[in-house]
Amino acid sequence: VTSVKVGDPVTAYFYLTCGHCRWCRINRETLCENFGGYIGRAIDGGYAELMKAPADNFLKIPDGLDWKNHPAEVGVICDAIATPVKVIRRTNVTASDTVAVIGAGGGLGIHMLMLARWAHAARVIAVDVKSDKFAACRAAGADDCVNAAEVDMTGALRDLTHGKGVDVVIDFVSVDKTLNGGAAALGRGGRLVTLGGSAGGTVTVPARDLLNKEAMVMGSRYATRQEVIDSLEIVARGEVWPLVTDIRPMAEAEALHQRVEKGEITGRAAIVMK
Ligand SMILES: [Zn+2]
Repeated sequence: VTSVKVGDPVTAYFYLTCGHCRWCRINRETLCENFGGYIGRAIDGGYAELMKAPADNFLKIPDGLDWKNHPAEVGVICDAIATPVKVIRRTNVTASDTVAVIGAGGGLGIHMLMLARWAHAARVIAVDVKSDKFAACRAAGADDCVNAAEVDMTGALRDLTHGKGVDVVIDFVSVDKTLNGGAAALGRGGRLVTLGGSAGGTVTVPARDLLNKEAMVMGSRYATRQEVIDSLEIVARGEVWPLVTDIRPMAEAEALHQRVEKGEITGRAAIVMK
């Protein structure tokens, strides 16, 4: 079932899900039991001259979004905004929460800072190992920046919270060091979220700490269709605006991918076809 009509401008929900399993039925389709892979990998994606995807994967771009003048920014909403929107919901960020984002200078990290600010977090802390990204982190909403290559992250997070610890730690890096350092920085009622599955880190948290702090360790994977739809609306209303810092033609795709791999991109990069 889709409300998209021929001629509508659309964006893509990029998981291929079955639509009928237990998880799809309750709008938690990132847990689909019959997961079919990703658009762009399992089937042709945006680099193809023409692409074909299940109708339910196309989501209409709302009228308030100027996709003709801002194709790159509108194009990245379906991941760069939607993934952080889901994290905000899963961690239930409130106005009294301090939120720390590890890997804050990356494509998702920058937008996570924006959405933490959007959610009225009391304080937003950016953690990265590249100081040249901190200006962008502050512009995106970070109150403080911690260079984990220069100082002990856990100690810095504890100092910045006057020893109380952080309420929400969001780890886009998710190696052993960041996960365990993040867990150690949690305060009472703290939530640690990993989004870095491929890094393969392991987090060890003493049950005593989980109990005494009523802490939570959780994962968050992409977003639901509804969260993508909500993200499009949030941007259409002007509440946040995606950060795309490098826009190239298709001929430069390979070079652009290499810049992404090296962590040289602040925010998102985009390829725009004329
Ligand atoms: Zn399913």
